[in-house]
Amino acid sequence: MLQQQGVYGMQAEIIAVGTELLLGHTVNSDAAHVARALAELGIDVFGSCVVGDNAARLERALRDGLRENDLIVTTGGLGPTDDDLTRETVARVAGVPLEEDADSLNRLREYFGSRPMGANQRKQALLPRGCTVFANTIGTAPGCAVETPDGRLVIMLPGPPSELLPMLRDGVVPFLEKRRTGVICSHMARTFGIGEGDAALLLAGLTSGANPSVATYATDTEMYVRITAKGRDAREAAALAAPALAEVRRRLGDRVYGVDVPHLQHVVVDELTRRGRTLATAESCTGGLLASLITDVPGASAVFHAGVVTYANEAKTRLLGVPPELLARVGAVSPEVARRMAEGVRRRHGSDWGVGITGIAGPGGGTPAKPVGLVYIALSGADGTWLRVMRPTGRAMPRAWTRMRAAGHALDMVRRALQGLPVVPA
Ligand code: ATP
Repeated sequence: MLQQQGVYGMQAEIIAVGTELLLGHTVNSDAAHVARALAELGIDVFGSCVVGDNAARLERALRDGLRENDLIVTTGGLGPTDDDLTRETVARVAGVPLEEDADSLNRLREYFGSRPMGANQRKQALLPRGCTVFANTIGTAPGCAVETPDGRLVIMLPGPPSELLPMLRDGVVPFLEKRRTGVICSHMARTFGIGEGDAALLLAGLTSGANPSVATYATDTEMYVRITAKGRDAREAAALAAPALAEVRRRLGDRVYGVDVPHLQHVVVDELTRRGRTLATAESCTGGLLASLITDVPGASAVFHAGVVTYANEAKTRLLGVPPELLARVGAVSPEVARRMAEGVRRRHGSDWGVGITGIAGPGGGTPAKPVGLVYIALSGADGTWLRVMRPTGRAMPRAWTRMRAAGHALDMVRRALQGLPVVPA
């Protein structure tokens, strides 16, 4: 169970500062990092905006934000240059003077070492009086948290993600955790094989609640359901979350491949390890993606024997024993060849399980009989061979999507076989 300390009841807005963000030269990844960190703390992010390097507009955004929220997090504009205006503007809005912070000045001196430190660098040690300082362990500008006279908070963070991320993790999150007024408990149920639309129908009535809240998130290949409950203490939060999670599991059934687990490939490696079983893969259109996903998981070497990429027909024959007559008769993209690939790689490597994938990832190479997006995925084991067919959607899907989805199907088949579930849905 994933349990988190929360600062619930707090409402926040993120203001990213930087003209380069407005122009689209830099993607606003800081806002995503901050939003995720706040969400994990149980803080509701109700707004996020971008302003250029302009003091008047930043001031307006801060004043507007502080009217509605308890917490504002700014990113960027803390550096040494003239267009770095965040510190001065926040101090003005909070009604607090800037003062040189001795520790921050020492850290700056340490950073420059024997190199000369320009006068403009020194201004980075000017921070609002009484603030909590977050040291910058990578670059120069420290971050800080300043309280406004009416008890609201503004947290300023530097723009470069390499500086913001450690400061967020080591400074801001512990700082906010200390101010918590409650606890949240959240679970993530991960599924394969169901889209958000179908999930919404199955979860009808559950997703409209506020505490616990149940929300779906779709990726290209999977769908996740997050269950979050807020309580006065851990026990209350957990007691609220548990029945909602049980209900989600009941309604989505064996499409849920895990709760609070990283990814499908982790569950597959875990199941293989627990049962002392081994796997080998033979891939055509996925080009080794499946083997790569599996070997990303620490500990895969104990259960994964081999991954073979066979693109040419001749390679399918030489490395997997697929008969040339079969290839000539039905073609490489066919159920028969997928089966022979799975059986061949399993036999040749002495594995308990073998996977074969063959298909047309596109964008070229499709025919009316074998269109782009058609993929056959076979799983061979001691009791036989199963086959799934991935048919094209109504749209021309990108090559990467087709490959990722095919690899996902293969992982799902192995997971289901290991757990004694139907491998091919009825
Ligand atoms: P520095 O000390 O580097 O000047 P700073 O806090 O003043 O830090 P900015 O000058 O606003 O930050 O931005 C520095 C760099 O950080 C930008 O060029 C950009 O590459 C990156 N950056 C700024 N804001 C963001 C953001 N919201 N998301 C991602 N990257 C950002």
